[in-house]
Amino acid sequence: MSLRRSIYKTPAQLRAMVEPGLITAAALDAVRGLIAPGVTTAELDAAASDVIVARGAKSNFQMVRGYRHTICASVNEEVVHGIPGDRVLEPGDIVSIDAGAEYKGWNGDSAFTFVVPDAARPELVAERQRLSDVTEGSLWAGIAALATAKHLAEVGAAIQEYIEANSPDAGPYGILREYVGHGIGRKMHESPSVFNYRVPDLGPEVRPGLALAIEPMVVIGDQATFVEDDGWTVSTIDGTAGSHWEHSVAVHDDGIWVLTAPDGGAAGLAPFGVTPREFA
Ligand code: MG
Ligand code: MG
Repeated sequence: MSLRRSIYKTPAQLRAMVEPGLITAAALDAVRGLIAPGVTTAELDAAASDVIVARGAKSNFQMVRGYRHTICASVNEEVVHGIPGDRVLEPGDIVSIDAGAEYKGWNGDSAFTFVVPDAARPELVAERQRLSDVTEGSLWAGIAALATAKHLAEVGAAIQEYIEANSPDAGPYGILREYVGHGIGRKMHESPSVFNYRVPDLGPEVRPGLALAIEPMVVIGDQATFVEDDGWTVSTIDGTAGSHWEHSVAVHDDGIWVLTAPDGGAAGLAPFGVTPREFA
């Protein structure tokens, strides 16, 4: 018998991931309700921490070596891994928030993007909102593909196809290549990698037991990024804005269930004709 942990979990293990998923969703909801001009990203971090602690869970981001915060807050040209601090949000900012909770030894991981309203710059807001909407749509396209996929590569192909089909005429959005989704369970980051683009390898078989964090990272311009001097923040080289959406999803005996959405993903999946199934 292999000592390596299987990527396929038991029904009981998947059910143990429901509560950390819901706690993660609640933490992100608290942050979403606070985002406004004048708020610092540290205040957003504190709001997420309060929810996670109040529900008897732990921030799994704080278990990542060298990271001391509950969320990542990535603003404008920052795409992922932005560090919360004294940065003050301004009208027109596009901010991506990523967070996760560990509860009774199991993990959730989810992210969303929000565009701060700016009445003075409607075109900028519209451009950034479209980026966020297309990134979110690509996440749901990938999750919908998971519902019927035979192999994991179908998820990345669906994400890329959605982004290509919904990019502006001015030029295609870029999809980050160096950062990808992942399996999730006892650890926040597990095998397998979940690509947000087409790959030649079919990847693992999609069957009950798979638990994945699917997380497209999309930018208005070129996909090329660099890590800022803080050692964490991933920013676009061309300075164009980025968006990041993520959900943790379980494949179980009766179908799929989005662990980090209180409705299991029903609203997001409806346009794709997919109905999430609750655990039996
Ligand atoms: Mg995440
Ligand atoms: Mg993740």
